[in-house]
Amino acid sequence: MAGRDWLDAVLGLGPEWKVTRVEPTRDPKELRVELQRTGGSPLRCPHCGEACPGYDTRRREWRNLDAWGYKTFLVCNVPRVQCPEHGVVTIQVPWAEGSTRYTMEFEAEVIRWLKVASVQAVASRMRLSWNAVDGIMQRAVARGLARRKTKAVRRLSVDETSFRRRHQYVTVVSNPETGHVVHVAPGRGKDVLLAFYEGMGEKYREAVESVSMDMWGPYISATLAMIPDAVMKIAFDRFHVAKHLGDAVDKVRRAEHRALVKEGNGILVGTKWQWLKGPRRKTHAEKLAFARLRAGTRRTAQAWELKEAAANLWNYRSRTWALAGWHRWLEWASDCDLEPVLKTARMIREHLWGIVNAIILRATNGPAEGINSRIKTVKVRSRGFRNRERFANAILFHLGGLDLYPDGLRT
Ligand SMILES: [Zn+2]
Repeated sequence: MAGRDWLDAVLGLGPEWKVTRVEPTRDPKELRVELQRTGGSPLRCPHCGEACPGYDTRRREWRNLDAWGYKTFLVCNVPRVQCPEHGVVTIQVPWAEGSTRYTMEFEAEVIRWLKVASVQAVASRMRLSWNAVDGIMQRAVARGLARRKTKAVRRLSVDETSFRRRHQYVTVVSNPETGHVVHVAPGRGKDVLLAFYEGMGEKYREAVESVSMDMWGPYISATLAMIPDAVMKIAFDRFHVAKHLGDAVDKVRRAEHRALVKEGNGILVGTKWQWLKGPRRKTHAEKLAFARLRAGTRRTAQAWELKEAAANLWNYRSRTWALAGWHRWLEWASDCDLEPVLKTARMIREHLWGIVNAIILRATNGPAEGINSRIKTVKVRSRGFRNRERFANAILFHLGGLDLYPDGLRT
């Protein structure tokens, strides 16, 4: 292959495009590959696809994958056509999407790197600014969202996650059946979830069969307002209920510990995890030690027994039996004099309807918890993110299950 023909072959743009010039510079090491449209098929309007007469050209430049360590650019005087319907418009080139300054190959490479590295690392690897990488990431997400075929989601999980340390939250809606994040938005107020439901459209709202969540007032009221029959569909997640009870046990333990220490008894020192760890995850030796610990305390052991009893109330098949089981537990709990447990029991009593829904619908945020731990990885990679919008975008990029790559290059 002689002369520049090999470059035409490498770029693979077809007979209509020809390399006319290659311009390397040593300092900085840059390579400009100039392309020209050589005729062949007629020029077409990018909007309607009609063949139109040429009008003039516009000089444009795109960053391409580096060649031999040279920052490489494609340069072209791109024809503009005069469309009777759309006026004077630039034709679509086959190597880039819309008006971006990067070729599709280049964007795809940035996306592949972003999957495994931080924005900062990708920026330095690809010799781009932080904002340029972020722009490619945002476009990838927009592309993926536009391509998402179905909006029908039978089951939803709603959860919040914090952004940085300053109590800034984002709301994450996910589909527990696919494990994908469906929607992310800054904030955790009622309006945030209302806007999501509104965006779904009525047909899809009606198709929702369960929404699992923590006992968080704003999410509850948004769902009651927007999802038909929500009072039978809102499911309070068992792991959150368990967490509230675990926290109650820990508060009782700390109070009892303070009282025992005054009497010179240190039995509860360093035992936090023994009370929280489930019996199935304990070794035989741990079980024996724990039995001694239980026998040596009164209040903490009682709180722990209530927590364990509640953990066994999630396997009912009938609403009536589930209600009966929880009412028995509530009676037992209300007899104790442990303020943190009483407080949690009151919360459970108020939300029992949604707890029973969770049992009957077998709805849990378990998969959402898995998403949460993956969000933590995104957070670590996103240290440079200055705002929640970008953090939200990164969550969709990594966990949205989206088709992110430019058209024709879905690798
Ligand atoms: Zn047109």
